[in-house]
This record gives sequence, structure tokens and C-alpha cells, in this order.
Amino acid sequence: MPRIPESELEHLKAEVALERLIEARGIVLKPRGADLVGLCPFHADRESSLVVTPAKNLWHCFGCGLSGGVID
Ligand SMILES: [Zn+2]
Repeated sequence: MPRIPESELEHLKAEVALERLIEARGIVLKPRGADLVGLCPFHADRESSLVVTPAKNLWHCFGCGLSGGVID
């Protein structure tokens, strides 16, 4: 399988809106201040532990501690 060039990955990170990707996976995001919150897909979340920061295109889960960007 061909590797995705590093430049293409950087392009994706810059261009893809993280919240759109998450919503495409069926996760409902709700505004909370400057952030968006929703149920984490990585653990059995009932408290909207997943916090998305659109300004940085980064996400973090306060339930299971995972975090990352578009690719992750
Ligand atoms: Zn989680």
C-alpha cells in the first residue's frame, strides 16, 4: 500500500474541518463556549467528554484521555 506523502498529510490537517469529520461519523456536536462537545467514539461515553476546538482543529477526550487532530 503506498504511503501518503507527508506533504499531503499536512494539507489534509490544514484543510479538513475536524468537526465535519466527526459529524460524518454520526457524532452529534454541541457548542460549549468556543468549543464543541460530543460523545467520545473511543470509549463508552455518556457525558459528552469529547471536546473539539475548531480554532486549532484538535480534539481531546476528558473521559479516556485520548487526543489528536484530523488524521488521528
Ligand atoms: Zn473518550
